[in-house]
Amino acid sequence: MTFYGDFHTHTSYSDGENTPREMAESACTMGLSALGITDHAYALCDEDCCIPQSAVRPRYDALRALQREYADRLAIGCGIEQDVCGAFDALPYDYRITSMHYLCWEGAYICVEDTPARLQAGIQACFGGDAYAFVKAYYARLAEALPAFPTDIVGHFDVLTKFNGQGAFFDESDARYRRAALEALHAVLQTHRLFEVNTGAWVHGYRSEPYPAAFLLRALYQAGGEVILSSDSHSALGIAGGFADAAALCRACGFRYAKVFTQAGFKDVPLG
Ligand SMILES: [Zn+2]
Ligand SMILES: [Zn+2]
Repeated sequence: MTFYGDFHTHTSYSDGENTPREMAESACTMGLSALGITDHAYALCDEDCCIPQSAVRPRYDALRALQREYADRLAIGCGIEQDVCGAFDALPYDYRITSMHYLCWEGAYICVEDTPARLQAGIQACFGGDAYAFVKAYYARLAEALPAFPTDIVGHFDVLTKFNGQGAFFDESDARYRRAALEALHAVLQTHRLFEVNTGAWVHGYRSEPYPAAFLLRALYQAGGEVILSSDSHSALGIAGGFADAAALCRACGFRYAKVFTQAGFKDVPLG
């Protein structure tokens, strides 16, 4: 099955392995109609992974040039993935994904998707080891911060579960976890309706399902939210990874359409 496009990818401008051109060539080889390039926006707390400040404008100009060059073959989205902990990048991107990789807590930054040890240390230092207090704080902050950011797509909504395989940190079926997640979902839905179904951690074996988890996807559908498929791939070979299974999961949760980016803006296409 060929999918329309992949709308969350990283290149060598941030922490990806391949250049935008290599990503575009790979997308064309796969038969995709669109590719969104969404490197990490500059953020002081994330300097190892984000676009260096000096490359922000050159990257934007290079993506616009590539977009024109590929216009008859591939709709390239000149996008950005911004973090709620970073400054707002005001360049006129085609679209923005907003994510929360860090919980900023009393001056400390807890990165939730870097390493399990770093997450463990953050939960210990900031919450005395109480993982449910951490969960509650993460989702409360997300619910407060994300609506304040101009954004088109909500990025990997429950990324704090990346290292929670077999309930390593908390039980995702526990009412304390689900209540915090669902309250944040409904809070974010007040302003942002389009959530990505992100296969990145799933494809790499960290999770048994994409972000967001199925119980959140069902709640999203019931609340009138929308979905867009993304791989969050950091390499040309990973583009559109896991999309067939992700589309099947979306359908099982009620969705019949996914949003896609086109040269004329976002539109709906049937799922599957
Ligand atoms: Zn991300
Ligand atoms: Zn990403």
